[in-house]
Amino acid sequence: MAEKPANGHAEPLSPMIAGDPARNGSHAMIPEPRCNRRAILASGLAAAAGLVLPSCASRRGPSTAALPGPAWPHERPAETIAKATPAPVASETTVKVGKLRLIPRTAWTRQQPNISDTNPMNGIQSITVHHDGMSPEIIRSQADAAARLELIRSSHVDSRGWADIGYHLIVDPQGRIWQGRPMNLQGAHVKDHNPHNLGVLVMGNFEEQHPTPQALATLDQLLANQAAVHRVPFGSIRTHQEWASTACPGRNLQAYMNTTRSRTGRLRSMMHNG
Ligand SMILES: [Zn+2]
Repeated sequence: MAEKPANGHAEPLSPMIAGDPARNGSHAMIPEPRCNRRAILASGLAAAAGLVLPSCASRRGPSTAALPGPAWPHERPAETIAKATPAPVASETTVKVGKLRLIPRTAWTRQQPNISDTNPMNGIQSITVHHDGMSPEIIRSQADAAARLELIRSSHVDSRGWADIGYHLIVDPQGRIWQGRPMNLQGAHVKDHNPHNLGVLVMGNFEEQHPTPQALATLDQLLANQAAVHRVPFGSIRTHQEWASTACPGRNLQAYMNTTRSRTGRLRSMMHNG
């Protein structure tokens, strides 16, 4: 099915930050959210389903035009999604991360996905690792990480017009794991390759900084766990730049992913040892 601009926005987008987006990992921001008849209808449907969604007015929120441009691809076209039956939002208990501790979505946002703007995941066949590509300031606390997640979510929803934060699971610099988009909903993180693709974000800009040992240890555990839970083949654990021309997940995290998936790498060992 041909991809159309989501919500009537013109594409392609122009880069917000000067330079080659493939080098700096930045993608353009859509300047305005939509508040069209379909969005209003969707809000009504969500309300009928017992969900609390922000109004069109409140969804605009503060301007994110001055934010650095994380590496975000495009949402699936709304026109094709609208015909699909909205998937129920997964409760936190349906996210299986084994013995790993998952910080629930409610710990960082009060907002719910606009489920009528998404497709159901219908099974996971690949996992893709990203960085956020934002300013590499230090995230010192859980509150810092929560604030950064909400910033990313609001950018995706208010500036991009997406249904929710694009990623499903997020690892912060202290090695905590956060729930992003419910895993029974298709993500928005690799243009043209979102179906059945689990989006894992590691917070940071790994073109400019190195991921922390805690984040990498958690990432390996999480990838091994999710691959096992969803029966994802080892070769289908990829990085964003292995799907498309982008700097994401940054040269330093890419280098680590190459190492950990190598013959003697930690991730490969974890997966082969159960
Ligand atoms: Zn990415």
